[in-house]
Amino acid sequence: APDFTRHTYDVVVIGAGGAGLRAAIAAREQGMRTAVISKSLFGKAHTVMAEGGAAAALGNANPADEWRVHFRDTVRGGKFLNDPRMAELHAREAPERILELEYWGALFDRTPDGRISQRNFGGHEYPRLAHVGDRTGLEMIRTLQQRIVALQQADAAELGDPDARLRVFPETAITELLVHEGRVTGAFGYRREDGGFVVFEAPAVVLATGGIGKMFRTTSNSWEYTGDGHALALRAGASLINMEFVQFHPTGMVWPPSVRGILVTESVRGDGGVLRNADGKRFMFDYVPDVFRAQYAETEAEADGWYDDPAHHRRPPELLPRDEVARAINSEVKAGRGSPHGGVFLDVSTRLPAEEIRRRLPSMHHQFKELADVDITAEAMEVGPTCHYVMGGVRVDAETAATDVPGLFAAGEVAGGMHGSNRLGGNSLSDLLVFGRRAGLGAAEYTAGTNGHRIPYEAVEPKASEAAEHALASLKQGTGENPYTLHSDLQDTMNDLVGIIRRGPELTEALERLSRLEERSTGLSAPGDRVYNPGWHLAMSLPNMLVVSRAIAAAALEREESRGGHTRDDFPEMSARWRRLNLEVRVDGPGGVTVGRRPVPEIPPELLALFDPDELAKYLTKEELPETAADAD
Ligand code: FAD
Repeated sequence: APDFTRHTYDVVVIGAGGAGLRAAIAAREQGMRTAVISKSLFGKAHTVMAEGGAAAALGNANPADEWRVHFRDTVRGGKFLNDPRMAELHAREAPERILELEYWGALFDRTPDGRISQRNFGGHEYPRLAHVGDRTGLEMIRTLQQRIVALQQADAAELGDPDARLRVFPETAITELLVHEGRVTGAFGYRREDGGFVVFEAPAVVLATGGIGKMFRTTSNSWEYTGDGHALALRAGASLINMEFVQFHPTGMVWPPSVRGILVTESVRGDGGVLRNADGKRFMFDYVPDVFRAQYAETEAEADGWYDDPAHHRRPPELLPRDEVARAINSEVKAGRGSPHGGVFLDVSTRLPAEEIRRRLPSMHHQFKELADVDITAEAMEVGPTCHYVMGGVRVDAETAATDVPGLFAAGEVAGGMHGSNRLGGNSLSDLLVFGRRAGLGAAEYTAGTNGHRIPYEAVEPKASEAAEHALASLKQGTGENPYTLHSDLQDTMNDLVGIIRRGPELTEALERLSRLEERSTGLSAPGDRVYNPGWHLAMSLPNMLVVSRAIAAAALEREESRGGHTRDDFPEMSARWRRLNLEVRVDGPGGVTVGRRPVPEIPPELLALFDPDELAKYLTKEELPETAADAD
C-alpha cells in the first residue's frame, strides 16, 4: 500500500490566493489549527497577478460613492443574475476589508490629501478601485502573507513553533476530498517535488482554488488553473451554479504567439486608452447596447470630457462591462477590420504623456517592451479577447460560504453566485477578502460545533487508498495516451465550440467530443517516476478539466438566451424568464453531469428601489416588477 504523510487540523484551506489566505487568517484568529495548501509556490497565485485594483466604495475619489451604488453597479454588470445577498455583503464589507489590509501594512496609492486613491474601471459608476500602480495583487498577497507570518511569529513566541497553529504547505496539490457519510473529513494530495502522498484530516475544508482557464486555448490564466476546486466540489456532492458564464477579458495580448492571451489590464482603458480598428475608427460607440445607452457617451468629445469632468459627461464606451467590449472586438475582427495579428488596437500613447504612462502603467510598459518589443508610450498595442475568469462556481451560503456538503466551504473565484452573469473588474479582489474571511469564520464555527468529535482514521483510510490508486494509474500505464495531446485537443474543443459566441449544434458537438476525450483520458500514460513529473501532474488534473468543461458546455446548451458571459448566436436576446433561473450542475456517475434549475434569489424591495423603474423593466418579468415600474411599461 502507498505511504501517506498524515496531518490533522481543525480547518484545511485549499488554495493560497487572496481568498485562501484571508480564510486561513480568519480561521486561525478564531483559535483553529489551520493548514493552507497551495499547488504552486507560496505567493504565486492569480491574486498576485491582479493589476487593476480592488473595488470598494470608500468614497475617496467621489464622496457620492457608497455601498448601495456599488451594489447597483455589481448587479447591473451581472445582468441581474447575481445572488443579491452576496452582492450586498460584498458591497457593504469591501471598504472595511480594504482598510483592514491597510492596517496590516498595505501601501495603496494615495490621493493628494493622503487618502487611498481610487481609479476608474468598466461598469463602476465612480472611481472605486483601490490600487498600487498596476501591481495591486502583489501588494495584497504581500500583506496577507505578512499577516500570516505575524501570526506564526506570535505562535513561535508562545508555543515555540511557528507552525503550531498555522502552517503553509506549498507545492502540494489536492486531488480528492475525503467524504464519509456525506460529510467532509479531509483531503488527499501529493507533493509536487517528490510525488509523496499527503492526507489532511479535518472536519472543515475551505476550497479557494481559483479559476479554470486552462481548458481554453487562449487564456490569461497560468498553469495551475485546471478547475480542481470546481471538480473536487462536484465529486464530493456539491453543486456548481452559473457555469455557462465564462468571462473573456476583452484585452489579451495577441502577438507574438508565445504570449497570446496574457492580460492587458483594463486600467489602460480606465486611464484613457481607446480601442480602434484597422481603419482607425473608435468603434466602441457602435456597440453600446440599449440597456446601457443612458450611461455612456455618444461622441468622442463627450467621452473625452468625462476623464476630467465626470459629473457633466457620460462615460466612454470603452468602459462598458467586459462582456460587451469582448463581443465588440470579436465582431470587428470577424468583419475584417482587425489588426495584422487578429486583434484590434488599444492606444494610450496618443492619450497620455509618456512619463505619465510609465508612472501609471509600469507593468504594462515593461510587459510589452519585453515580450512584444512594443513601446506603449509611442505605439498602439494589439489586443483581443482572452479567457479570463469564471463567474460560475460552487453554490454557497452567502453568510458562511458553506456548500451543501457539511464541512465544505468555498470562497473566491471557485465560488459562484456573487457576480451573476458577468464580473466587473476589481470586484474579484474585494470578493476574495469579503468571502475569504466569511469562509474562514464559517469553517471555524463549523469545526467548533463538532465539539472535538473526529471521524476515526480507519474510516478515512480506504478513501485515501482509493485516491492514491487513482493517482498512480497513469504512471503504471506504459504506452497510453500522452496527457499533453489530450490537453491540446480539449483546448481546441473549448476554444472553438464553447467560446465567446456559442451555437446549439456546436455545443452538442462539444459534448460529444468531450465524451471521446473522457474515454481517452482513462488510458493516459505519464512516463517517468513520481519525482517532479509534470506529465503526471497534468494527467491528474485532466479529469478535473474534463468534468468542468462538460459542466460549462452542458449549462451553455441549456440556457437559451444571451446574457453576460454567455452569448448564443441562436438565441441573441436576453430573456426575462431566464433571468429568474440559475442552472445548477451536479455529477451523475463517472463523467456525466446533470443540469437542474433553481430560482435566482429575489432582490429585496429596498434594494430593488435603487434602480430606475425603466431599467428594471429591461430585465425583470412583468410579475416581478414593483408596481410603479410595471405601470411605466
Ligand atoms: P487564486 O489567487 O487564483 O489562488 C488559487 C490558489 O489555489 C493558488 O494558490 C493555487 O496554487 C491553489 N490551487 C489550485 N488548485 C489546487 C489544488 N488542486 N491543490 C492545492 N492548491 C490548489 N481581479 C480583480 O479584482 N482586479 C484585477 O485587477 C485583476 N487582475 C487580474 C489579472 C490577471 C492576469 C488574472 C489572471 C486575474 C486578474 N483578476 C483581477 C482576477 C483575480 O485575480 C482572480 O479572480 C482572483 O485572484 C482569484 O483569487 P482566489 O483567491 O480565488 O484564487
